[in-house]
Amino acid sequence: MDEMQGKEGNDEGMTCPPATQDITLNLKNRGRAIEAAMYGPENPALPNTGFWREMAKEWDVPVEAAKMSRCGNCAAFDREPKMLQCIAQGMGEGSGDPWGAIKAGDLGYCEIFDFKCAASRTCRAWIAKEEGEGEEGEYEEGEDDYEEYGKHAMEGSDDES
Ligand code: SF4
Repeated sequence: MDEMQGKEGNDEGMTCPPATQDITLNLKNRGRAIEAAMYGPENPALPNTGFWREMAKEWDVPVEAAKMSRCGNCAAFDREPKMLQCIAQGMGEGSGDPWGAIKAGDLGYCEIFDFKCAASRTCRAWIAKEEGEGEEGEYEEGEDDYEEYGKHAMEGSDDES
């Protein structure tokens, strides 16, 4: 996206995306993802039947297959240690335990919409990983239970992800 000016560095010398350091910008970009690409569902722990039906239609796959495509296995999801450090740094000022919040929410950074997103959510712009690129292409259900995974995401959510 276009809002990459004013970057701040993290302790490892990485230039952090501004949205990791600016809650207002993060929320603005998240809003764009919701509007343009149906980022959601709002509460991944619920069945969200309508949402998944819509995604299945979008991708022309069965609903159960659509549920396997989440931010957590999207090629645009960045959970590299340096990026997580940027996120923790940005959350640090207002949160007592940024690393706990990142872990509980399975947070990462969306390189397409430039915001902190949760592994258990998805959007229309989901991109399959190339073979050999990080994890396998299919979403790994946390503890074999994606609803539990979603619950963690909610618990860690500060309404920014
Ligand atoms: S592009 Fe990928 S990482 Fe970004 S919100 Fe969509 S599914 Fe999540």
